[in-house]
Amino acid sequence: MTRVLISGAGIGGLALAQALHRGGLDVAVFERDPAPHSRDQGYRLHLDADGNEALRACLPPEVLDRVRDTSGLNGDLVATLTQRLEQVFAQEFPGIPDAEISNVDRDTFRRGLLTDRVVFGRTVAGYTITGTGRVRVRFAEGGADEGDLLVGADGVGSAVREQLIPGHGPRDLGLTCVYGRMPINAETEPLIPAPLGRGFCWVAGDDGTGVGFAPVRFRHRPGGYLMIAMVTTPGAVGPDPYRTVVETTASWDPRIKTLIGYGDSTSFFPITIRAGDRVGPWRPGPVTLLGDAIHTMPPAGGVGANAALRDAATLAAELLSGKDLIDAVAAYERVMLPRGFDTVESSLRMIGRMTAR
Ligand SMILES: Cc1cc2nc3c(=O)[nH]c(=O)nc-3n(C[C@H](O)[C@H](O)[C@H](O)COP(=O)(O)OP(=O)(O)OC[C@H]3O[C@@H](n4cnc5c(N)ncnc54)[C@H](O)[C@@H]3O)c2cc1C
Repeated sequence: MTRVLISGAGIGGLALAQALHRGGLDVAVFERDPAPHSRDQGYRLHLDADGNEALRACLPPEVLDRVRDTSGLNGDLVATLTQRLEQVFAQEFPGIPDAEISNVDRDTFRRGLLTDRVVFGRTVAGYTITGTGRVRVRFAEGGADEGDLLVGADGVGSAVREQLIPGHGPRDLGLTCVYGRMPINAETEPLIPAPLGRGFCWVAGDDGTGVGFAPVRFRHRPGGYLMIAMVTTPGAVGPDPYRTVVETTASWDPRIKTLIGYGDSTSFFPITIRAGDRVGPWRPGPVTLLGDAIHTMPPAGGVGANAALRDAATLAAELLSGKDLIDAVAAYERVMLPRGFDTVESSLRMIGRMTAR
């Protein structure tokens, strides 16, 4: 039986593992985190039609139900507003069916996708191709494992990418995103200005700084939160990221100030925004890449997770098609590389517009 080793139990790696296990392959996922919930990796993720289609293709019905049941109520608006909350642009998405998932809490989503094929506390440090064309991975913690295919689904800092295509890591865009949350409860719900409670709203400051707001209201449990995501330059972020958001928006519409005032100050953290440059194709072999490990993109447009899910669905379909393993990898890479980098480029154009002064 074909044995597939996956480096990274993130969104793409877990979706792939679910699909391959369901298809009868032997799968092992190695995750460097010591446990499923050991750090914050961000908050709300937007899922689009492509992401939904990929989830349907990858997940067994009971896992899809679990993911849907723990997702957020569907929103119906994407809008851009000024810092005075004047509407510049709005697009409505009425009547998204309940069967579709338009947003998830990242950590809840990842737990929903988990399989018992994941081994936590295993950091993939590198690999070698054996004399018989198999792949042997070695772990930073010690030990090794062997399989027919290694999939680097290990995100932006991918160790597998560094060995497969050295020097093609993503570049720093000179932008920082500060993420945080405001809890939604009986006290804060009435304070959310109507558009900000309906979907993703980008509030553009006069100085080029912008803040995105988007709610997660869980379908089957009370409460949720309003995700707050400020994009700025690294030098503008002080030692207390929450204070930076408070100070940057101090002169904005008083309703924004109020919302930020209710933010959970301990939930705010900065990330560096990066993007991968177009690369490939390379000679197909028993090692490939998926998601952020190959086509890292800025969060603009909320497409990174959807792109990783699409990769998982495409790779799973090829590996389960009955083709020779290397032919299946080649067919996957022919689709994944141009599609992934087209998405990076559209995301770069979008973040350029969002931060234009
Ligand atoms: C704060 C934040 C907010 C975001 N918001 C959105 C959004 O709203 N919408 C959207 O579509 N996208 C969003 N993204 C992007 C999205 O999260 C990523 O594009 C998506 O998670 C990529 O999935 P992935 O499976 O490729 O990688 P990841 O989900 O990053 O998973 C990689 C996994 O590999 C593990 N790993 C890393 N190195 C190793 C190693 N050497 N050995 C073993 N395991 C390893 C990591 O611990 C991690 O679990 C956001 C990203 C961040 C950081």
